[in-house]
Amino acid sequence: MVDFTIDAGHGGYDPGANGPTGLTESATTLKLALKVGSLLTANGVSVNYTRTTDTFVGLSERANYANNTGANYFLSIHLNSAGATATGTETYAFDPGGSDERLASFVQSNLVSAIGLPNRGVKFANFAVLRETNMAAVLTEVCFISNPSEESLLKTDAFLTKAATGIAKGVVAFLGRTWNGGGTTPPAKLYRVRKTWADAASQIGAYNVLENAIALCDLNPGYSVFDENGVKVYPNTSQPSDGLYRVRKTWDDETSQVGAYSILENAKIECDKHSGYSVFDEHGIKVYPLNAALWRVRKSWTDAASQVGAYSILDNAKVECDKHPGFSVFDDIGNKVYPPIR
Ligand SMILES: [Zn+2]
Repeated sequence: MVDFTIDAGHGGYDPGANGPTGLTESATTLKLALKVGSLLTANGVSVNYTRTTDTFVGLSERANYANNTGANYFLSIHLNSAGATATGTETYAFDPGGSDERLASFVQSNLVSAIGLPNRGVKFANFAVLRETNMAAVLTEVCFISNPSEESLLKTDAFLTKAATGIAKGVVAFLGRTWNGGGTTPPAKLYRVRKTWADAASQIGAYNVLENAIALCDLNPGYSVFDENGVKVYPNTSQPSDGLYRVRKTWDDETSQVGAYSILENAKIECDKHSGYSVFDEHGIKVYPLNAALWRVRKSWTDAASQVGAYSILDNAKVECDKHPGFSVFDDIGNKVYPPIR
């Protein structure tokens, strides 16, 4: 079980695209992938790699590796290639509306702000590594190796570090964790006492020593102790971390569980049969149904500045949305709910 499979595009006899002076995509994506991996590891996100050397790995082999190692997420790193003037950053997901798109949005926006090249946005494509992976998967095209000035950036370690930091920050933000910086020292262990991991506002204490956290927890019914990865370590040490979507009344009410599914859609179908039930991910975060407190009308979730309104009643948000071509309605966590997905 691993948080992320990191996939350096191309390799071996498949160099991918070449820059005008001969820099290869495969050598550069490998450097980026290893940097992203070490930054994520330093931030408490576990990773594995489809390749760590200049070797050929087939597309299905990459997807199967992630599937077979039980990765929660898949991140593929590529460089774009068109003409000498094509410029900027884009990130792909398989289809819109799900956690793929959310992950892509986090990676794209953080990468763009890290390297400062034009934002070509989140796009959708039927790429093999996105289609054949069982988990949320994205593919980022950092910039254009075919553009002479972007190729020369890609030759510098400083730029690769900047880009890798942007990607890693996006992943950490997507996971709802706090960025610990780019150091190589792992984050200090901190045991947090909260009602649920997702409810950070409920936190009543954080301790380096687990026993101290447990002592506080015992004084406060309804609270639990979580490690820095959000895994509940007390009172229930058999906290699952298996990628399953559980259908329960509440996360803490384990006895109410009516099913557990590796495929979110199947959990939703089961959930719809039971009133008052929700779907929780392996960390206990409610993923369905989403009771939005506010429906926001924006061009895209990441473009908060474009917001033209926020409504507690969905129909009012739809009415406003219809007045603005190119706008959508988003729920509290950035899922696009209107207009209907094509
Ligand atoms: Zn490529």
